[in-house]
Amino acid sequence: MKRVLLAGAGHAHAVLLCSLAEQPLYGARFTLVSPYARQLYSAMLPGVIAGHYRREEAEFDVAALAQRAFAEFVPGSLVRLDAARRVALLADGRQLPYDIVSLNVGSRTEDATPGAHEHALPLKPYERLVERLRYDAHVAIAGGGASGAELAMALRHRGAVVTLYSEQSPFPPKLARRIERALRRRGVDFRPGMRADAVESGPVVIAGQAHQQFDQVLWAAGPAPLAWLERSGLARDEQGFVRVDATLRSVSHREVFAVGDCAATGEAKSGVHAVRQGEVLAHNLRAAVTETLLVPYEPRPQALLLLTCGARYAIAARGSWSAQGRWAWWWKNWIDRRWMARLRGEKLKRKVSLQKR
Ligand SMILES: Cc1cc2nc3c(=O)[nH]c(=O)nc-3n(C[C@H](O)[C@H](O)[C@H](O)COP(=O)(O)OP(=O)(O)OC[C@H]3O[C@@H](n4cnc5c(N)ncnc54)[C@H](O)[C@@H]3O)c2cc1C
Repeated sequence: MKRVLLAGAGHAHAVLLCSLAEQPLYGARFTLVSPYARQLYSAMLPGVIAGHYRREEAEFDVAALAQRAFAEFVPGSLVRLDAARRVALLADGRQLPYDIVSLNVGSRTEDATPGAHEHALPLKPYERLVERLRYDAHVAIAGGGASGAELAMALRHRGAVVTLYSEQSPFPPKLARRIERALRRRGVDFRPGMRADAVESGPVVIAGQAHQQFDQVLWAAGPAPLAWLERSGLARDEQGFVRVDATLRSVSHREVFAVGDCAATGEAKSGVHAVRQGEVLAHNLRAAVTETLLVPYEPRPQALLLLTCGARYAIAARGSWSAQGRWAWWWKNWIDRRWMARLRGEKLKRKVSLQKR
């Protein structure tokens, strides 16, 4: 019996667990380790903040999903992975030995800027963000990527005064202009080309010679690898993400898989890519257990971006194409709700009740 350890309840592991629920795998014992028994779905987070969804609507029950997949759920966080000894160490001191491990632990928010760690609230973990977020306040957001822009407009929709610092736009010029217009139309104090150089207590944001005090500073500076990956012994890319081969296996340790934000696949960090990787992971983990052929993952350079604009309105973009409207929000709402229904086993439940009839 092979011991398969799943670290993190990210998008790809959610797909894998759904697959195991539908088609159990004999010859392996699955254990899922993740810190939260109920997990917030990132794509619906701006909608929770804007007030379109109740928190429960954007959460799924990790323990219940694991149970449906015949996996043991262990609430906890990895603080170390010893790839040479094939053992994971949890924050509470427990050790979990494995034969195969799959990492889908996401990323943390990059906070190397002086004072960011001490005086700003990072986007991750989302569970902590929603508990500490202030609405009746002047909020600064550092980072003008998709998540920074979405949060800025969601907070404006709830009445906050919002200043958005964006050192550089990650979008193609036409899309960047579209997003900038959307931000300004909603009254976000958007500061393109302005880098938040430091954060001091107050909290005060220092940008060049300018010092400005806010009620709260949110840090949305993009993804960075979890610190413990550095000491894992796994091969990593120059940013510190786990290097994988075409089958999503670590290039240095054949019994380790890595998917989603924590893996270096050459794609942008996005839930859409993580879900696609999950489909291949579901096949390849089965193949690794049964010692059959693994299949390659084919990276897609461009994922669909649906960026919500506070109200029920969104910008849709893929590659050089972009458009906007209420229809884009309803499209995203349909995609996200369908995904949540899948994770809650609602489709499965329907199947079961049909079988009973
Ligand atoms: C506000 C916001 C909105 C976004 N909207 C979209 C969108 O609409 N579409 C899109 O494609 N992308 C979106 N993204 C990006 C997307 O959230 C990430 O790229 C995606 O979540 C990565 O998925 P993942 O499967 O790698 O990990 P995640 O979904 O982040 O999951 C990581 C898992 O690992 C667990 N974990 C963390 N640390 C540990 C540890 N030490 N030990 C064990 N478990 C651990 C976490 O609790 C979680 O279960 C958004 C991001 C943000 C911030």
